[in-house]
Amino acid sequence: MSLKEYREKRDFTKSPEPRGDEKPSAQRRVTPRGGFFCVQKHLATQLHYDFRLEHNGVLLSWAVPKGPSLDPSVKRLAMHVEDHPIDYGDFEGVIPEGYGAGVVMLWDQGTWEPEVDDIDAALQKGDLKFTLNGYKLKGSWVLVRTRGVPGSRAAGASPDGRSWLLIKHRDDWSGPLDIATFAPNSVKSGGGFRDILTQQAPDFWLSNRGGTSTASVQTLRRLVERVEKLEPPTESEKPDEQPRTTPKSRTSTTRRKARKGSRPT
Ligand code: MN
Repeated sequence: MSLKEYREKRDFTKSPEPRGDEKPSAQRRVTPRGGFFCVQKHLATQLHYDFRLEHNGVLLSWAVPKGPSLDPSVKRLAMHVEDHPIDYGDFEGVIPEGYGAGVVMLWDQGTWEPEVDDIDAALQKGDLKFTLNGYKLKGSWVLVRTRGVPGSRAAGASPDGRSWLLIKHRDDWSGPLDIATFAPNSVKSGGGFRDILTQQAPDFWLSNRGGTSTASVQTLRRLVERVEKLEPPTESEKPDEQPRTTPKSRTSTTRRKARKGSRPT
């Protein structure tokens, strides 16, 4: 376990992410086995959920493109990625540029306990069963490494052994509830990506951490566009220079309907 790869990928003069210099304190270790876990919803090039389990002083990390599912019949691809520092566990914010550029939301956090005696042996074997006690994710789960079959990348398998599956076991905390849609917001700030961006953009805006101002404006504009695509503004959040009830907007609605109606079927 080492943070070498984590640090090599990032420029900490430009990213607000923790370097991970602090030694994990004794208080952070909630139980002698297992410990802290979190899931960070990360709007980067692709939206994904970073699933992290504390083990041996670092956060073991998997990027789950579709996020965890509470349905035991659904196997979610989880790409094993580099270990992260323990203090990354409550990070939430805007990464303006570089590796992982985008917005990070603390989507869930809590504690985890292995359901096996030897965590390292289970990881080695590629089959780790564990119990989560978070706000959103609870009960029994398993991470299973998929077999790397060359040429079967489309099925999610990778020959480098990095692809795993995250699966919910059947218990009181499993069922047909789309948790990512039902509970989309942060357990830290309570808001969505829009709120994180709104709260943190002023820091980003005023920071003098490198980059030209033009690049920063473009970066921020691109981020806002991506966040709005994912979380469209509600009626009350929309700019109100053109209220919906103006004759102009009514006309355009009528025209849209007319066009739709005249379309050949
Ligand atoms: Mn990520």
